[in-house]
Amino acid sequence: MKTVAFITLGCKVNQYETNAMIQKLIEGGYKIVEHHEKADIYIVNTCTVTNMSDRKSRQMIRKVKEINPQAKIIAVGCYVEVAKNEVEKMKEIDLTLGNSEKVDIVKHCDNLLQDIKKDENNKKNEFSEFGTITYTEKTRAVIKIQDGCDRFCSYCIIPYARGRVRSRNPQNVISEITQISKKGIKEVVLTGIHIASYGKDFDEKYELIDLLEEINKIDGIQRIRLGSIEPLLITHEFIQRLSKLEKICEHFHLSLQSGCDETLKRMNRRYTTAQFKEIVEIIRKTYKNANLTTDIIVGFPQETEEEFRKTYEFLKEIKFYKMHIFKYSPRKGTLAEKMQGQILPQIKEERSRKLIELSDKNEEEYNKEYIGNEVEVLWEEEKQGIYKGHTKNYILVEQQKESAKQKENTIENVEIVEARDHYIIAK
Ligand code: SF4
Repeated sequence: MKTVAFITLGCKVNQYETNAMIQKLIEGGYKIVEHHEKADIYIVNTCTVTNMSDRKSRQMIRKVKEINPQAKIIAVGCYVEVAKNEVEKMKEIDLTLGNSEKVDIVKHCDNLLQDIKKDENNKKNEFSEFGTITYTEKTRAVIKIQDGCDRFCSYCIIPYARGRVRSRNPQNVISEITQISKKGIKEVVLTGIHIASYGKDFDEKYELIDLLEEINKIDGIQRIRLGSIEPLLITHEFIQRLSKLEKICEHFHLSLQSGCDETLKRMNRRYTTAQFKEIVEIIRKTYKNANLTTDIIVGFPQETEEEFRKTYEFLKEIKFYKMHIFKYSPRKGTLAEKMQGQILPQIKEERSRKLIELSDKNEEEYNKEYIGNEVEVLWEEEKQGIYKGHTKNYILVEQQKESAKQKENTIENVEIVEARDHYIIAK
């Protein structure tokens, strides 16, 4: 039996697509092995969101070739899409595949093993459906509902790497979730490149909220989590309909990127800080336990001390639970790459450090507020006598295992007795 190993970099969409390719390959008669084991084919599912991702993608390709110099290497995904020429120069690679070609992975592996080198690039402007996928996760499954993005934020390469918005047929989403619910999975995470755009490409009006209402009806599924969302998705009408869906998890990852209007404008983000603040108020008014997290880019071209100060003050005011801080790095082919006023690395470093400090302080303070309270936790795993799980609003909970009773994949109400920097401890 021929063996295949995967290395997956980047976002949840890539993770989903790796799962889907694994399933296809198993059905196609391949055996999946770990990436540090010897395999006939290594598939590196690359990412290009930052320069660091590109570098890591290249490193991984080299690493697997060292494990088995005779193996065939396939590089797939976003890095391949945007830097095809660069990737193809790597002598380690036998085949490059774009995102839309992942669905035909079995055919490509079969061909490769027969030494047929192919490199077709037939990008289709429709959602590439993988079909039924087997999930290895016991408690939570990531479901891809959408691909592509039409936003063209000035720093982002993704619209070039993944193409225009394509939404997955709602019936296929429902049927996939229904199937996994029968396997006992209790939580689904809906993901995509820009899930706020879900339905935009349909002829009939059908939006994300319509899909959520359908998913909420599926028996067995107890939690529905939204992946990263664009703030403008949140309107009064959206939240009013959302708040009626009892399975929705009150964790909202709103990609803010900057807390300064001038910077947001240069980034080609389409909201102002005032609009963002209003959105946060709507959420917090509706969901008392709302957990808000975000992504911030520091050192965007021309970001002055004053602009950074505005961002810092705005973030202090909003007080997110957690912030993911990215130091701006120019992506070739984007508008921001050509902007004057690129920021020195040491300034980016300093700004990043300040925001990480703020994020850690917020997380610690929020965590302390849980002491003495009861929370609902879905236990995900048990390792070395410690259970780990998440609350509905995505706070990590740990508990010492006390009895032989297995609690994995069960939902339990527990009392919180201690708080640590990045998690809380249940009695
Ligand atoms: S919304 Fe902006 S940052 Fe997000 S994928 Fe689209 S272009 Fe990139």
